[in-house]
Amino acid sequence: MPVWTPGYYQVMNYAANIQNFNVVNSRGSLLKWEKSSENGWKINTAGDLSLVISYDVKATTAFVAGNYLDEERGYISPAGLFIFPAGMINNPVTVRIEPYEKWSTVATGLEPVKGKANTFYAADYDVLFDSPILMGNLESFPSFTVNGIPHYFKAFKPGVFNQQQFMADLQKIITTASGIIGDIPYSHYTFLAIGPGGGGIEHLNSASIAFSGEGLNTKEGRIRIYNFLAHEYFHHYNVKRIRPVELGPFDYDKGSRTRMLWLSEGVTVYYEYLILKRAGLTGREEMLQAFRASIKNYETKPGRNFQTPADASYRTWDEGPFGRTGDEVNRTISPYDKGPLLGMLLDFKIRHETKNKQSLDDLMRLLYNKYYKQKSRGFTETEFRSEAEQLAGVSLADFFDYIYTLKPVDYSTYLGYAGLSIDTVARELPGAWLGVAVRDRGDSLLITNSEWQSPAWAGGLRRRNSILQVNGSKMNAQAFNGLMASLKAGDKIKILFTTSTGVKEEEIVLQTKKEGSYAIKQVDDPGALQTAILKSWFGEN
Ligand SMILES: [Zn+2]
Repeated sequence: MPVWTPGYYQVMNYAANIQNFNVVNSRGSLLKWEKSSENGWKINTAGDLSLVISYDVKATTAFVAGNYLDEERGYISPAGLFIFPAGMINNPVTVRIEPYEKWSTVATGLEPVKGKANTFYAADYDVLFDSPILMGNLESFPSFTVNGIPHYFKAFKPGVFNQQQFMADLQKIITTASGIIGDIPYSHYTFLAIGPGGGGIEHLNSASIAFSGEGLNTKEGRIRIYNFLAHEYFHHYNVKRIRPVELGPFDYDKGSRTRMLWLSEGVTVYYEYLILKRAGLTGREEMLQAFRASIKNYETKPGRNFQTPADASYRTWDEGPFGRTGDEVNRTISPYDKGPLLGMLLDFKIRHETKNKQSLDDLMRLLYNKYYKQKSRGFTETEFRSEAEQLAGVSLADFFDYIYTLKPVDYSTYLGYAGLSIDTVARELPGAWLGVAVRDRGDSLLITNSEWQSPAWAGGLRRRNSILQVNGSKMNAQAFNGLMASLKAGDKIKILFTTSTGVKEEEIVLQTKKEGSYAIKQVDDPGALQTAILKSWFGEN
């Protein structure tokens, strides 16, 4: 049984959820077996090649990378449910679902077997592991086609919103995203919305997503959901097919590590923003705002001084999907953090060097056609770089330093290629700066964040410590925040707090925080090439 599911780069130890493992041979006799590894079983078949293996799977995790079952729905994350015969991963598989009698729908990207109810076929176990199954009384939104290919959206408890409008917008997203690559490689595609919550996993012809349509009722929520759907959808190109060589065939026992998740994840975030703008769902200002927020998020993260995007990619297995745990929070970034920025730098550089005749879109198309379609494999880091440099016609050493070193980003040069500028000057923010965020926990305050190199940080306050007293009194979060708002830089505050070893009191002098706005603007009097690059980047040709 796999220990992980592709798309979610964490060891899940799925085999620990298996109980009541039983094997009978063709004559119905029980066979002996033993655990051969954490995720393997060795069966004494006595030469009988026809076996029936049965087992129960604990299905209590309502999450895209888990299995879940209750009276209302079932969700199968296949890598965590199906075992496979060792060494036979390339064998074809048939799956028959017997749904609970009160359920109407079984939804999956798997191919249905004609004439057999709820029976599906996968060409091999890789395809099976890549095809989650959602069942229950699901809502089917109005489907649409792009280039004649049907797209479905099946949802458990999606909430109340305008489904027609939503599907019309989703059609624009898919038309735009598939137009970037110029080829649709599947015969049908299904969004599986497993219910409210968080998270999504991309697949070859489906995406499993946590989803609540209620969010679509505000503009901000709508853009957030559209970004998310554009992200999961674009992944069927970028990571599933346009992929680092390490990401398929997968190592289901150990996991597959790559130093290119900044490309597979981060640049997929880059394309979210481009796709929404080009689909007409956002405007110029909203797109620049999205990049501003991304860049500010990256530039204010201390981990950028310690971890390169290549290392963040490789170490995501140890650090969690979003890069940061415990006291290491300030020493790491996630593969997502710098991605939109890297996509933008590379795109502008290629456009500039080729007089806007080539772009990152051309590079993605080239990788798709050459490696996925012709060679049926992923690319190495060296191949990626060499393809990018050939397309640009120049060395991209300066760009690749942003992936393999901690070199500060030269914004003015790269954004200047598109006639843009960014305000990176750190200015004083109003109010006094301590540098902690807190919430109530019992009769103390739990520190939910301590900013690196803030006065609080220097005083020894850390995330997950508790503040017991402020200036000699107990205080709830509301009173604490009120006190902070009333103080000014230079004021002193006495804090009694827990540490990993005991209790400590510190007198902390409040300071003023400085931060860049990272606002992105168009330069005055751009040249012809700058104007052309910006226009085509916005998709306004
Ligand atoms: Zn992703």
